[in-house]
Amino acid sequence: MALNILLVGARGRMGQAISKAAVDCDAVILAACDQGDSPEKHIAECDVIIDFSFHEVTPVLAELAAKHGKPMVIGATGHTAEERATVLAAAEKIPMVWAGNFSIGVNVLFHLVGKAAKLLSSEYEPEIIEMHHHSKIDAPSGTAERLIEQVLENRGLTRENVQHGREGNIGARPQNEVGVHAVRGGSIVGDHEVLFAGPFERISLSHHAEDRGIFARGAIRAGHWVLGQTPGVYNMEDVLGLRD
Ligand code: NAD
Repeated sequence: MALNILLVGARGRMGQAISKAAVDCDAVILAACDQGDSPEKHIAECDVIIDFSFHEVTPVLAELAAKHGKPMVIGATGHTAEERATVLAAAEKIPMVWAGNFSIGVNVLFHLVGKAAKLLSSEYEPEIIEMHHHSKIDAPSGTAERLIEQVLENRGLTRENVQHGREGNIGARPQNEVGVHAVRGGSIVGDHEVLFAGPFERISLSHHAEDRGIFARGAIRAGHWVLGQTPGVYNMEDVLGLRD
């Protein structure tokens, strides 16, 4: 049956991407809310609330969702510790999928990179390369940060091992280094590559985002999945069945 979505942040870039993707993902936008609208008006008829608005909005919505017993998918980012605590308290009453990146491909990449980092010995030296459009103001990307974490965790390394870029007479590469490189230019939506350079061979795992529709499709898939789950916070690993 089609998923009835109460969409918050509907006029934003992601909100529009979700509206566009809905028809292909067996979903209907039951109510499209943005600033000035009251989500409570429509909450009783929806199956799930999908939030791609603003960090301040999420805790208010989470409390509303808990009051009405409706599951949530949270895509908005940048929450303060206090906002996170309010959302987590609401998750004791309702299930929610909360993820910083809803792309199915990127989440599979996280998983594969963790596996590769573990399977390959330290002779296979990791270098992470990310590319984004010239307007992106932070580096490395949040997705690259997660890839770094995957390599560190699975190799027993720490942040001390991370090397952002290289310049000058820096000497030979220490084997336990994790190199990170941020490329910026043009209109690149988002490319991530993790290269393991070993003796006489290289393995490369990469993802190329072509459109923000990838996040929209993942969020709607999470919306279908979260129905009927027990209260708590889940992420895309749960949705995609990637937990070992
Ligand atoms: P955007 O600025 O284009 O859209 C945000 C929308 O939220 C706007 O239309 C704005 O009017 C609306 N909004 C603000 N306050 C509101 C309120 N009180 N009630 C209802 N609506 C309100 O931003 P975007 O690029 O669409 O991104 C939205 C959020 O999603 C950001 O936090 C972004 O970081 C995050 N994001 C997450 C993922 C993911 O995969 N998790 C992917 C892309 C973006």
